[in-house]
Amino acid sequence: MYSFAIVYFYSKSLEGTHLSQIVLTVDQSVLTKMYTYYKSHFFEPFPAGSIFRAKTTHAVITAYKSGKVLFQGKSPDSEASIWQTTPQKQTKGNSSKISKPGHTDALPINFLDSNHIGSDETGTGDYFGPITVCAAFVTHEQIALLKELGVEDSKNLTDVKIKAITKDLLHVGIPYSLLTLPNDRYNQLQKQGWSQGKMKVMLHHHTHQHLLKKINPDTSKGILVDQFCQPYIYDRHLHSEHESRLPNTYFLTKAESYSTAVAAASLIARTRFVREIDELSESVGIELLKGASAKVDQTIAKVIKKYGKTKLEQIAKVHFANTDKAQKYL
Ligand code: MG
Repeated sequence: MYSFAIVYFYSKSLEGTHLSQIVLTVDQSVLTKMYTYYKSHFFEPFPAGSIFRAKTTHAVITAYKSGKVLFQGKSPDSEASIWQTTPQKQTKGNSSKISKPGHTDALPINFLDSNHIGSDETGTGDYFGPITVCAAFVTHEQIALLKELGVEDSKNLTDVKIKAITKDLLHVGIPYSLLTLPNDRYNQLQKQGWSQGKMKVMLHHHTHQHLLKKINPDTSKGILVDQFCQPYIYDRHLHSEHESRLPNTYFLTKAESYSTAVAAASLIARTRFVREIDELSESVGIELLKGASAKVDQTIAKVIKKYGKTKLEQIAKVHFANTDKAQKYL
């Protein structure tokens, strides 16, 4: 499979801060995947000898024809970890941006094609409605069928299509665990000082625990979380609640594009979220919009006029700036 030579080194920027860099050496098939993966982030002009240069929120990635790929910037490890399949080695040096060994375990070879659990959440950026998190277990044998059914990155699909595919995939009978964090509980935790990140960590963790009770854990190669924070932050949140990460838990950004289990979990979570929003809309007699746009602010004003501000506690994430922005419509 892929072979990687990994070199870390650090450079000193003009401002005097240390920016870390990571160089991976990858084969042509990985270069091709990278090209497709980063296409929408291309950052021209491309340097001489390179195939592309791309910029993400974590790093600038420059891929060379030789197979060398350079990751530079704020947290190059976040980007590089997507492509690593061998354990990281870190040279001496200080970069708090690079997580401690053992906390950035790279995905084992063939993991994505093996039986595994995937988890994803939705509703986190939506003012109205709960957060829903799902973990799903997909076997190697089910991957082709699920792909056939259209299980893929739900960001590319309409809610109607997502609902239809979810129905089909549930017929296949994949084990899953689905949790909903209702808005009143969300707001309560938020006021207690919980960040949304911590809520997500605990929800993901609980879905993993529940799902592992439904399957024979020995048949699963591990758990893949659609990465929403650095692994050490994930661990920190778990420790704050006297929990720790389950064995063989891995993280990958945009995991729904690579893992059928994560894609399935994402669809199930989204379908539940949409249903919750529909039910909340029905209960208040106002169509509650998804997202957190200015149109949402107008909807908030409608809710306040009809029921008073306290109603928002039950149907919305009240700490979002939208709550204040709605004032101008009152
Ligand atoms: Mg996600």
